[in-house]
Amino acid sequence: METLQKGAQIPLEIVTPALSPENPDILTSVEALAAALPGIDPSRLNQMTSIAAKYSFRLPRFYVENILTRAADDPLWELVLPNDGELYDSGTERWDAFQLADKVVDHPRWIQKYRYESLLRVTDYCSGLCRYCYLKNRDVTPGTITHAEIDNMFDMAERSAGLGDLREIILSGGDPLAVGAGVISHLAQRLRRLNQRVGRRITVCIHTREPVWYPQRLLRSTAMQQAVTELAPSSYILHVVHPREVTPALLESLDMLVHLTPARPPLLMTQHPLFRGINNDAGVITQMYDLLDSGRVTVMPYYLIHPFPDGTLPQHRLTLPESQGILRGLASAPGTRVPLLTIPTPMGKCVIGPYEQLVDRGGYYLLHTKDGVPVHYSIGERYNPEEIRQAIPVVKDVTADAR
Ligand code: SF4
Repeated sequence: METLQKGAQIPLEIVTPALSPENPDILTSVEALAAALPGIDPSRLNQMTSIAAKYSFRLPRFYVENILTRAADDPLWELVLPNDGELYDSGTERWDAFQLADKVVDHPRWIQKYRYESLLRVTDYCSGLCRYCYLKNRDVTPGTITHAEIDNMFDMAERSAGLGDLREIILSGGDPLAVGAGVISHLAQRLRRLNQRVGRRITVCIHTREPVWYPQRLLRSTAMQQAVTELAPSSYILHVVHPREVTPALLESLDMLVHLTPARPPLLMTQHPLFRGINNDAGVITQMYDLLDSGRVTVMPYYLIHPFPDGTLPQHRLTLPESQGILRGLASAPGTRVPLLTIPTPMGKCVIGPYEQLVDRGGYYLLHTKDGVPVHYSIGERYNPEEIRQAIPVVKDVTADAR
């Protein structure tokens, strides 16, 4: 299959949504992978086929050809190719279950753990599927948001008594930059209207890995560029996990995103989970930050994410003191180059400092979310989602379902 080169003729598939089943740039089967990445051991291919029957496989050709090596011990293989570590996934992903009882919008795509911030699951689609994804069971609203859903949600938001407290809407997924341009354009219209209603700007932040997976789509889709210009997000948070993922095409797409709105350029930040054997090393992370800093626009480190217990492959999980040790290795640097170490919990994010003392209180550490909600965090590598839920404001029927 032809590799896409800069400046090449744009195939029709590139400018249509990436989720087109005919898109030749997205590998969706182990057979297609084997053709694109020759030399995979036949027994490993068999194993991949059986894992892919349980957890879907999808990977952009760009990632295979520009980021992966052909070496079977390439650590990035385990993050993007089906592997038997996935069979040990706890399958209890319910990170969205614990939300405010009085959300601004009562809709399954509208996730709200804080009164001042909500997260909109625009789609369940990503151009590639990370094997560690905490949503890998796709226990989320399927498909891409429709215009009717957007209108319904934003109508509710406009009527909500909680709207005055809302400061930020995060567009997430799946990947919001992998949807059709019409969705982004319609969101832009409704967000403008919402801002007029509150008389100020509600910050829009886009969480994306699309510039890593499939940067050509952004670089070549004028419709998407137009839609993103209309949306004019305040910030992007990129999901990049390894220095090799910082390709020239990624840097080019970041440059393009910033220059779409020159009057108010968005802030670019990067966040990434930590994985044993892949990026659990301050030197590797510093190299990644340096490469991100080598382009024409600035990318600031944001969160260093202690691995999610759900989804993260067992062989790559770290203990909390190990993650804190990595932060210590990064802390002696200019402030703009030091990330925050965050621990995701169903109750919200907990942030700890490089030298904060972690005290064993009988099998757990006492952490606090940024809203001060106490969280008993198991000292073991697996967080027990049954712990200390009573104090958490939750939606009752969803809680019952999650138990
Ligand atoms: S990019 Fe994010 S949402 Fe998409 S598969 Fe990876 S971890 Fe999951």
